[in-house]
Amino acid sequence: MGKKVVLVTGGAGYIGSHACKALQGAGYLPVAYDNLVYGHRWAVRWGPLEVGDIADRARLDAVIARYAPSAVMHFAAYAYVGESVADPGKYYRNNVAGTLTLLEAMRDHGMARLIFSSTCATYGVPQTYPIPEAHPQHPVNPYGASKLMIERMLRDFDLAHGLRSIALRYFNAAGADPDGEIGEVHDPETHLIPLVLDAAAGRRPQVTVFGDDYDTPDGTCVRDYIHVTDLAQAHVLALQALESGAQSTAYNLGNGRGFSVREVITHAEAVTGREVPVTLGPRRCGDPPRLVGDASRAVRELGWRPHQAELTRILETAWAWHGRAQRERLLRDLSA
Ligand code: UDP
Repeated sequence: MGKKVVLVTGGAGYIGSHACKALQGAGYLPVAYDNLVYGHRWAVRWGPLEVGDIADRARLDAVIARYAPSAVMHFAAYAYVGESVADPGKYYRNNVAGTLTLLEAMRDHGMARLIFSSTCATYGVPQTYPIPEAHPQHPVNPYGASKLMIERMLRDFDLAHGLRSIALRYFNAAGADPDGEIGEVHDPETHLIPLVLDAAAGRRPQVTVFGDDYDTPDGTCVRDYIHVTDLAQAHVLALQALESGAQSTAYNLGNGRGFSVREVITHAEAVTGREVPVTLGPRRCGDPPRLVGDASRAVRELGWRPHQAELTRILETAWAWHGRAQRERLLRDLSA
């Protein structure tokens, strides 16, 4: 019997490419489906790449007919919070309408399993810590709202069509493949850890701390950083749960430990052995002071075990990737 095929939308992106590697390691054939707007051709290494947009129904039909995938892992989305505030239509069109096209294609091809890349941004400003899945979901930006709308569509498609899904609500994805084969390359880069490492490497003059007057121990925002390889593994476990008959649900994925912006910088200085020049800037619009997740249900029900939970380990893998010639070349190509 051939390998089971999984269609991975956004499979050329940061988290999607790590999921492809994890799928291949678990015996699946990942078919990356990516429009390459933010994804990278080089990041598709564990199965074929089909260039296409989730909003392109004809293209989706052709790819599904060609590979007959048994499931979909759905990562394709725009994910810049600030941009979503400035241009919400872009987010509702791509993330929400695009996903609707994907779900209708799945329905019409009789596909019944989907793992969805959701986010802690669906919770908005948290009322309790650590945040459990049952926490009210009141997103404070269009990015989070677009992901919540998709979670809602998933419930309705299950009720109407029996499409089973597991939504995985990530906290702050970070780090890189420990084998150094893939890692984070965003253009523009807005995430704290790659920016801090850029400053450590002298590639940027400094990193700006977005506000130090929050109601947190050192005044800077606290986040729950989770290694991308641990995230990828959770996707495989969630898929296997659906294959074993699990009902549709959602899980948080985080380490349950918060680190402030200043703590991330201090840890990065220790890992890199370099000083990170820092300046203080104003708060960034829409940043909740503290986001820390309770992922105990994923541990209990999926058997998920994060293997790279230490912030130091997350930073070490990110730093190793940072120094790779391949990443350097890529950044040059992107800015050319
Ligand atoms: N942050 C910062 N300076 C930067 C980028 C991010 O101080 O140049 C802060 C940001 O305000 C947040 C945390 O670092 O509190 C993590 O931000 P990131 O964009 O990495 O992830 P987010 O929490 O927005 O998903």
